[in-house]
Amino acid sequence: MSTESTKLAFNDGWQYAPAPESTDHISIDEQYGLFIGGEFVAPESGRYFETVNPATEQTLSSVSLASAADVDLAVKAARKAYNGAWSKMAAADRGKYLFRIARILQERAREFATIESLDGGKPIRESRDIDIPLAAAHFFYYAGWADKLEYAFPGRRPVPLGVAGQVIPWNFPLLMAAWKIAPALACGNTVVLKPAETTPLTAMKLAEVIRDAELPPGVVNILTGAGETGAEIVNHPDVNKVAFTGSTEVGKIIQRSLAGTDKKYTLELGGKAANIIFADAAIDEAVEGIVNGIFFNQGHVCCAGSRLFVQESVAEEVVRKLKDRMETLIVGDPLDKNTDIGAINSASQLETIQSYLKVGQDEGAEMYQGSGSLPEQGYWCRPTLFTGVSQSNRIVQEEIFGPVLAIQTFRTLEEGLTKANNTPYGLSGGVWTDKGAKIFKMTQQIRAGVIWANTFNKFDPTSPFGGYKESGVGREGGLHGLGAYLKLET
Ligand code: NAD
Repeated sequence: MSTESTKLAFNDGWQYAPAPESTDHISIDEQYGLFIGGEFVAPESGRYFETVNPATEQTLSSVSLASAADVDLAVKAARKAYNGAWSKMAAADRGKYLFRIARILQERAREFATIESLDGGKPIRESRDIDIPLAAAHFFYYAGWADKLEYAFPGRRPVPLGVAGQVIPWNFPLLMAAWKIAPALACGNTVVLKPAETTPLTAMKLAEVIRDAELPPGVVNILTGAGETGAEIVNHPDVNKVAFTGSTEVGKIIQRSLAGTDKKYTLELGGKAANIIFADAAIDEAVEGIVNGIFFNQGHVCCAGSRLFVQESVAEEVVRKLKDRMETLIVGDPLDKNTDIGAINSASQLETIQSYLKVGQDEGAEMYQGSGSLPEQGYWCRPTLFTGVSQSNRIVQEEIFGPVLAIQTFRTLEEGLTKANNTPYGLSGGVWTDKGAKIFKMTQQIRAGVIWANTFNKFDPTSPFGGYKESGVGREGGLHGLGAYLKLET
C-alpha cells in the first residue's frame, strides 16, 4: 500500500474503537513518605514534590524530597540490616523472600502496569506485556541463584559487598528497580534505591510489596528525590557499591566522584544503536523491527535503534514501507490497549526532542512525520524520521531519547560496519540479513554490548547487559550480574 493510499485510509477514519484499561482497581495515595527501615516515614526537611501524568498533565500524587539527612538514615538502616538479620540468614531463605516478591508482583501485575503507564506515559500494552512480567522474572531468576552462588563462581568464595546505593532512570521504572534490587539481595547485600523524579510511583508500590513480603526492616530502602538525592546516595561514605542507570553525562559525574574510593560500581548509560538492514533481509519483518526499535515506548529506550543503515539497493523500499507503517501508528492515551506510542515522559524531555527536530532540519536533513492526530493535553511527539543525514550530524551522533530515527545507506558490509561503529556509544545494535555468515561477522565487529539478529529489543533476565565505550562500565543481568554485587575471594 502506498503512503498516499494509507494516508487516505487513516484520515478517512480507519480507527479502532477505544479500549482503555480501567483505573478503578488501583489506589494511589495523595502523598508518599520515604521507605526507610521497613516503614514509610516523613522526610526530615518536610519537603514534597508532585508527580504528574504526562498524558493529561494532572497531578497523580506527591512524594518526599529526600535530603542528606534522610540518605544517612537510609544507609544506616541498610547497614544495620546487613550486619544483622540479612547476613545471618541462610542463603536459601534470602531466596524465599525474592520468590515472594516475584509472586506478589505477578498477583498485582495489572495494578502495577496501570500505574506505570499513568506515571510514565508508556502504552499499557508495553507495561503490561514487558515491564511488569520482566520485573517479576528478574526476581524469580535471582531468587534461584541466592543459595547457589558458589556454583556460579567455582573455586572462589563469594562474599557480599555490603550496602548498595542504586539510582535509576524513568524509562523502565519498575523493571530498573527489579534489575537492581534482585541481584543485590540474592548476593546478600542490602540496598538504598532512588527512582527517577518523574516516575516514583511504582517504586513506592514496590516498597509496599517489600513490606508485605515481610523482608527484614532496612534490607531495602527507597528514597524519592532528584539528582541531589542521587548524589548523596552515591557519595555516602558507608555505601560499598554504586549501581547507576541513566545518562552518560551523569554517569561521568558519578565516575569522577567515585575515583579514588574503594566503592565498586556499575554504570549503565546512554546509547545510539544502529539497525543494519542488508538487501537480503526479510524486509517486512525488518521494517517491523525498526518500528519496534525506535517508535514503541516513544523511543525512551537506552538501546533504541535510533540510527538506521540500509543497504542502498533496498533503501527506497525500506523507507517507503516505513513511512506507510508510520501512518498506521496510533499516538495517544497510554491506557488505551490500541496505543502504539504513548506520552513523552515529561515537558522537559519533550523540549529536548523538539530541539533535536529543529537541529536536524537546520543541519539540512529531510524530516518526515506520521500524520495522525495528537491529543490536545499532555506531552506528545509524532514518530519522526530523517533522511539525507550524514555521519557528522548531531542527530546521528547524539542520543535524543525520543521517537526519532536517522536513516543512512551503505553499499558494502565494511561500509555498514564502519558507519555503525562511528559513535561514542556502544550499547546495542541490530543486524537484519538471511545470511548467517554476515550475522557472525557483524556481531563480532560491532562494538556494542548486545547485538540482536533479525529481531530487536528482546530482553531476558538470564542475559548479561551493558555497554562498550561511553555506554557504560560493567554488566548487569544473568550470571555476570551476580559478579557486580560480590567480592570473589580465593
Ligand atoms: P539521568 O542521568 O538524568 O537521571 C538518571 C537518574 O540519576 C535519576 O534518578 C536522577 O535523579 C539521577 N541523578 C541525576 N543527577 C545525578 C547525580 N549528579 N548523581 C546521582 N544521581 C543523579 O537520566 P534520565 O534522563 O533519567 O534517563 C535517560 C538516560 O538513561 C538515557 O541516557 C538512557 O540511555 C539511559 N538509560 C540507560 C540504560 C542502560 O541500561 N544502559 C537503561 C535505561 C536508561
